[in-house]
Amino acid sequence: MISRRAFLGCVCGGTLAALAAARPWGARRAHGATAQRPNIVWIYSDDHAENAISAYGSRLAEVAPTPNIDRIAREGILFRNSFVTNSICAPCRAVVLTGKHSHINGVIRNGIRFDGAQQTFPKLLREAGYQTALFGKWHLGSEPTGFDAWDILPGQGHYYNPDFITPDGRVQREGYVTDIITDLSLDWLENERDPEKPFMIMIQHKAPHREWEPGPDHLTTYDDVKIPEPHNLFDDYSGRGTAAREQDMSIAETMRLGADLKVWETVEEDDLVKQRTYGRMNDEQRAKWDAAYGPKNQAFLEANLEGDDLVRWKYQRYLKDYMRCIASIDDNVGRVLDYLEANGLDQNTVFFYSSDQSFYLGEHGWFDKRFIYEESLRTPLVAKWPGVIEPGSETELMVQNLDCAQTFLDIAGVPLPGDMQGRSLLPLLRGEQPEAWRNSIYYHYYEGEGRVHNVYKHYGVRTDRYKLVHFYTLDEWEFYDLETDPHEMRSEYDNPAYAEQIAALHTELDRLREHYRVPEDPPPEQA
Ligand code: CA
Repeated sequence: MISRRAFLGCVCGGTLAALAAARPWGARRAHGATAQRPNIVWIYSDDHAENAISAYGSRLAEVAPTPNIDRIAREGILFRNSFVTNSICAPCRAVVLTGKHSHINGVIRNGIRFDGAQQTFPKLLREAGYQTALFGKWHLGSEPTGFDAWDILPGQGHYYNPDFITPDGRVQREGYVTDIITDLSLDWLENERDPEKPFMIMIQHKAPHREWEPGPDHLTTYDDVKIPEPHNLFDDYSGRGTAAREQDMSIAETMRLGADLKVWETVEEDDLVKQRTYGRMNDEQRAKWDAAYGPKNQAFLEANLEGDDLVRWKYQRYLKDYMRCIASIDDNVGRVLDYLEANGLDQNTVFFYSSDQSFYLGEHGWFDKRFIYEESLRTPLVAKWPGVIEPGSETELMVQNLDCAQTFLDIAGVPLPGDMQGRSLLPLLRGEQPEAWRNSIYYHYYEGEGRVHNVYKHYGVRTDRYKLVHFYTLDEWEFYDLETDPHEMRSEYDNPAYAEQIAALHTELDRLREHYRVPEDPPPEQA
C-alpha cells in the first residue's frame, strides 16, 4: 500500500505550475489566462438506497427507474463499492464536511451538536476563492459555517409547506420540500452568485427519509405495478447473533400503518406524526392527497389482511411511497442538470449525486439503516465531469464518504490538510488505477441499544471479500464471506475452515483502529 504521505506528496508536493499542468481543467483551459477552476455540484439525499437506483442494477429498475440519476452515471462514473463509516444521518454529514471519522469530528450519533468551529472543506474552499452555498437538510444542530449562502431545514424538516432556517430567521415556504430545495438552489445559481468565481453548492434533500410522503406530482405513481420482493423479506435471523434478532426496525413489527404507511383512517387527529405530516397540507394539497390515498386505504381496510399477507401489503405501500419520493428527487436532479446545460455551466462542473447512507428496502425484513451489513454500509455515488470522467465508466475500488472532503479540495486545487483521514478520489475520476488503493474499510456505529431502532453498538472491517464485526456491548463477533454469502445470512465466526481469514481480519481491524486513532473506549456521549 502506498503511504498516505507519498500519495499526497505526488499531488501537493510540486510547484503551482506543475500542479496546474497535472489538472485536467488546467490542461483543457491552458490557453485562457482567466481559466476558471471547476465548479462542484453535490446533490445529497437522505436514506436513498443503492438498490433504489436503476444504474446500480437494482431489482426495482424495471418498475421504478431513476432516469436522471442514471444520466449522471451514463455520462460519468459509477462507484460500485461506495461505503459509509457510520450509517446514520448526522454522523455521515459530519464525516463528509470534515473528512474525519465520527470519533474525531465529534458527531458519533444523531442529536450531537456539530462543532462548527472545526476545519471543514467548505471553509477551505471559501478561503481559496470559491463561493459556497448549502440548501436543504443540514441536521447538525449548530448553524452552518463556511458558506456564503445557506438556507436549511430545521432537524429532519417537513415534506409539505416546510419551515426553513435562514441567516435572517425562520420562514415557512409553500410547496413540496424537494421542489423548494431545488428552487432555492437554482435561484442562487441564477441570481445570487458571482459569475466571476467558481462555486461549490450542496443541494441536500430531506427525501426519501421516513415517513416517505410523496409529492403532489407522484401520489399515484406506481399504483399499477407490483414491486419485486427481496428473497429474505421473511428472514428469521437464524445464523446470526443477538443484534439481528433484537433490532426494532422490521416491516412486520416496527412499521406503523398510520404514521409510516399513511392509513390515516387508523390514527387519531391529534397524533403528533399525523400533525407534522398530513396536518401541514393546505386544502388543495390535502384534497389531492385524499383523492389518491382514500380509495387505496379503503381497499386495504376492507381486505382485513393478517400475518405474511399484511407484511407483503406493508412492503408494497412502503416501497411505493419511498420510490414516489425518489421520483421527485430524480425529477429535480434533472432540473439541475438541465439548468447547467442551458447556461453553459455543465462543461466546467463536477456533478455528484450521493446519499448520506443506503437503506433496507425489505432485505432481512427491515427498513432503516445503522448496521454494518451491506445494504446500509453502502451509499450510492455517481459523478460526471465532461472531458475528464470517461462516460459510462465504473470503478470497483472501495471508497468511503470519508473521501469526499479531500476529493472536493483536490478538484479545486486546494492543498489537502494532513489531518483529514480519507483519500482524494480525483485519480479515480480521471480513470487512473492508483498503484495501491485501500484494501479495507473501518466502520463504527455508536447509537446503540435502548435508542431508536435498538441496534447494538458495533465496529468492524470489510475487505473486498470478508467482513468481521464486533458487537462490543454484547461481546459477540460475526464474520461473513461475501463471496459465498453475499446477503449475510450466516455468520461463519465459529467455522474452523475460516480460522486463517478471521485471524487476518482481526489483525487488520486492530491496524485500522490504530491508524484512525480510535480510542480504546468509545468517546463520551455529549448532550
Ligand atoms: Ca439518512
